[in-house]
Amino acid sequence: MKFKIALSFLVAAVFGWLSPSVQAQDLGPGFTKVKDGIYVYAPDATTTTCSFVVTQEGVVMIDSCNSPLASRNMLAAIKKVTDKPIVFLIDTEIHGDHTGNHFIFSPPATIINHEGAGAGMRKEYDPKRAEALASKSAELREAVKGEKMIVPQIEYKDKMTINLGERTFELIYLKNVHSDADTAIWLPKERVLFASSAANVRRFINLRPTVVIPDVLASLKLMKSLNPEVVVTGHGPAGTTKIFDEYEGYYTLLLKRVGEMAAQGKSLDEIKKELKMPEYADWHDQERLGANIDAAYKSVKK
Ligand SMILES: [Zn+2]
Repeated sequence: MKFKIALSFLVAAVFGWLSPSVQAQDLGPGFTKVKDGIYVYAPDATTTTCSFVVTQEGVVMIDSCNSPLASRNMLAAIKKVTDKPIVFLIDTEIHGDHTGNHFIFSPPATIINHEGAGAGMRKEYDPKRAEALASKSAELREAVKGEKMIVPQIEYKDKMTINLGERTFELIYLKNVHSDADTAIWLPKERVLFASSAANVRRFINLRPTVVIPDVLASLKLMKSLNPEVVVTGHGPAGTTKIFDEYEGYYTLLLKRVGEMAAQGKSLDEIKKELKMPEYADWHDQERLGANIDAAYKSVKK
């Protein structure tokens, strides 16, 4: 009996180790297996999420993780699951917390994002980043070695389909939702959607001046219409389309309240002082409500 149990463990260990069905808990804290061969790495509730998808012809990564330490964890996790190379790395946005560690994966990975991604990255790149990280700890100094900006080798326009092995990845450009180039990645057979930072998980998002809330709402509607089973956003753990419902509710209410106050003749400053969103008091990053009101005010004043 004992021998049988030991043997089955051994068999499970050997096959588990070599196949894409390795359990996420074997990969370390923060890793979740959302479908066979599809792993999401969300270190915590708000840190940048990065993911990988194993195919018969190699690995496709989504985003390159925030800290180079997280990227090294990611690389180690991929190697535990498969010995196949990382063929593509698809960015969901251009910001450094998603793109700053391209150098850890490319080469061999070919990086892809929408038109404008490279220009946006060049504009935002901080040449002192590696130095700043290296000064934080010996571990980081090691992890950030070789740091340099690598912009996407491929920029698509509007839509792109990648067929790799048995899987299909549909890249969909989302306009004005977060950064200079935002991409949703849809796996139609698996019904898994990587939704970018058009939404996160119960968190106020830092809406930059280029973000247009009605465009965000349109993108949430579009993504929901794909009817995904699993939704992975740019930050936080994997979820479902409930994420889209929550953000749709939030932005709709925000627009309504800002619209009413503006109609009463209140200035942006007055609105920012008075407006509260108590329904969302438990969301992360409350200090970003001001930037959200800025964006809403711009939309209602149009
Ligand atoms: Zn971002």
